[in-house]
Amino acid sequence: MSFKDLKLNRPILRAVAEAGYDNPTLVQERTIPLVLDRKDIITSAQTGTGKTAAFALPILQLLFDRQDAPKKGKKIRALIVSPTRELAIQIAKNFTTYSTYTNLRSAVIYGGTSIEPQKDILAKGIDILVATPGRLLDLHKQDLVNLDYIETFVLDEADLMLDMGFIDDVKKIERLCPDDKQTLLFSATMPYKVEQLANSILKDPERIEVTPTSSAAKNVSQLLYYVPKRNKIELCLHLLRNEIKGSILIFRRTKFGVDKLHQTLLKNGYKAERLHGDRSQNERQNALADFKRNKVNILIATDVAARGIDINELDAVINFDLPNVPETYVHRIGRTGRASHMGHAYSFCSADEKTYIKTIQQLINVQIPIEDNHPYPLDPKAKPIVHKKKGSKYKKGRKSQASKKKKKRWY
Ligand code: AMP
Repeated sequence: MSFKDLKLNRPILRAVAEAGYDNPTLVQERTIPLVLDRKDIITSAQTGTGKTAAFALPILQLLFDRQDAPKKGKKIRALIVSPTRELAIQIAKNFTTYSTYTNLRSAVIYGGTSIEPQKDILAKGIDILVATPGRLLDLHKQDLVNLDYIETFVLDEADLMLDMGFIDDVKKIERLCPDDKQTLLFSATMPYKVEQLANSILKDPERIEVTPTSSAAKNVSQLLYYVPKRNKIELCLHLLRNEIKGSILIFRRTKFGVDKLHQTLLKNGYKAERLHGDRSQNERQNALADFKRNKVNILIATDVAARGIDINELDAVINFDLPNVPETYVHRIGRTGRASHMGHAYSFCSADEKTYIKTIQQLINVQIPIEDNHPYPLDPKAKPIVHKKKGSKYKKGRKSQASKKKKKRWY
């Protein structure tokens, strides 16, 4: 199937061609016709499947085709609500790209940054607004956003939205939009809470399931390292020195953990950046930009900060800490191995995380291969290490490494 078969109009087809897209992805094939038909939809699809274009392209087309409607002017006609600032910025960028050859204007608003420039943008008038919930409600309270003319309302990453405690905000925003709007809900996973929300805000929705939650990315080779918690940093350094090359995204569960690992990597001569919710918006943007431009090749992040971010050609993901929600594992490793690139996922499992790995494996229905040929095995009876590389300092096995540990550690 081609984009032309999806009955998209010329300005949009031209922008899509310039973006380098040859054919629609599966989620686009299924979603675009339904959105053009003005149906409500609930789509289960992860980042990386092309889901942003799946809603952005038909929304642009609908707005473009109905420009003579009386609502034309400084009225916001499509609203996309996203849980994180990074994701909101990314979605808005996509809208800008796809609308190059239309006269439709889009903008993004999010918290953690000065509200004044956002007020100016809104005052100028836009057709499409991408927003995080808190800032949107703030601006609405100040009468600076009018949602009375919304024709299409998109709720992106609904599961994360609920995990982040935005349920009441989302419901409030939905009620501020007209009753006859079209609503599109996208969620990487479909827990009961999301189903409940969908039932309350969608009208007779069509369901689209592109990537079942449990299916781990096909192009990703996965490896599991059992390692004592105290040795995770050493294992990470060992793998960075010997195995893992290219652009690497490392997940840690806490902001503190991100900062700690970041310091260690810098002190060991690595170029790394970090992304978490305690950093200012500017710092987060700069970190991401440096990583995307290959100024640094390692990005350490918490799940919330990294969720939904599109980074092309990521070579590897390291699950430094295992997630306690198994679906999160699927999201994380889905960040690599995109668009036919082969990716690699390395997961570190300490004794207290064994139950996590069990539920992850149940969810993905795969036994992740265990790599026990490393210097810091969890099981003391594990066989000694014979490192592959000639002259490697790990050749002598685990015992010699253990004695090294007694040396001064500064982290
Ligand atoms: P998303 O799932 O929306 O985050 O998109 C993931 C990546 O796929 C983005 O870099 C998009 O630019 C890209 N993409 C979206 N649609 C297509 C397509 N039809 N062909 C090739 N790449 C695409």
